[in-house]
Amino acid sequence: MVRLMSNSETLQLAKTLLERPSITPADEGCQQVLGDRLKSLGFELESMIFEDTTNLWARLGQGKPVLCFAGHTDVVPPGDPSDWSFPPFQPTEHEGYLYGRGAADMKGSLAAMIVAVERYLKQVDEPPFDIAFLITSDEEGPFINGTKRVMETLESRNEKITWCIVGEPSSTEQLGDVVKNGRRGSLSGSLSVIGVQGHVAYPHLAENPVHSAANALAELTQTRWDDGNEFFPPTTFQVSNIHAGTGAGNVIPGRLDIEFNFRFSTESTSTQLQQRVEAILDAHNLNYQLNWKLNGPAFLTAQGLLINKVQCAIKRVCGYPTKLSTAGGTSDGRFIAPTGAELIELGPVNATIHKVDECVKITDLDTLTDVYQAILEEMSV
Ligand SMILES: [Zn+2]
Repeated sequence: MVRLMSNSETLQLAKTLLERPSITPADEGCQQVLGDRLKSLGFELESMIFEDTTNLWARLGQGKPVLCFAGHTDVVPPGDPSDWSFPPFQPTEHEGYLYGRGAADMKGSLAAMIVAVERYLKQVDEPPFDIAFLITSDEEGPFINGTKRVMETLESRNEKITWCIVGEPSSTEQLGDVVKNGRRGSLSGSLSVIGVQGHVAYPHLAENPVHSAANALAELTQTRWDDGNEFFPPTTFQVSNIHAGTGAGNVIPGRLDIEFNFRFSTESTSTQLQQRVEAILDAHNLNYQLNWKLNGPAFLTAQGLLINKVQCAIKRVCGYPTKLSTAGGTSDGRFIAPTGAELIELGPVNATIHKVDECVKITDLDTLTDVYQAILEEMSV
């Protein structure tokens, strides 16, 4: 498909969003812009402000299964603006690309979603599902007051999302070549092994926590936690930080601090991993303190209605098949999928996200709009 028009509605809306320096958790009025467009389509808007975070829940219809578009208006900091070819908050078109912080992650997706819904609603009398938008300004930050709190609010009044399309930049080489249908879980541990400080010349009066932890650590690094499955590689354990010692060469340290992280598949649960780690530490008779932080559970949407429709839509618009993947870090999908929603992530090419000179191909913004619209159409038949 040859596109001659580069002044598309999606491009215009993307630029309006990119002008706003919404460094996480700021929204800088982006949700107002999106909300105004949705309101004129008949959506009911609900602004949910939790501390420093602005969230928008917008819904059209009440009672049918809910097809939800999810995304974020916040962006990561641009770093030193002088490193950029163009000012990061002055959207600039250059050689077929739109430059600006958030162009690919993910203001371009938000613009495409809005325009797709506008076009779809022009062609149907009544959609066979409710359409919703869940937009947060805290996806790139500590993710405490964003999607998580919105989902808790929806759950508390028994409002469900049936199918969810997250606009995270999933594509790798060309638009739509990869769709994420799950993510690995992330579990962190802070371990302190307690010993007795003393003089290195009198080890019988001390207890060296480095020595006592060494064998346990060896076992932790060599354990095979699971074998993964069709969608996930095996679970991995990595030590990220380790520290002991006073700095003096003649002192046996009194404690050893270790931080580690699991990236885990759906073959293991966080509870199982915690129990297995603690069993290993106990088997080595360590005196320890251990604090856990579950950053996100593993989730997976198996082949089903949503994935079938998304695959058809991409094939129809792009002309090539899409690949399912669970690679990459966590996303806000982790707060939505566990409520039972079928969820996928589909957005622009991710080559420049979080980088200097973040950009998106301008024709990809239009193709993405077409793909989102085609998903709405496929879901209607
Ligand atoms: Zn993002």
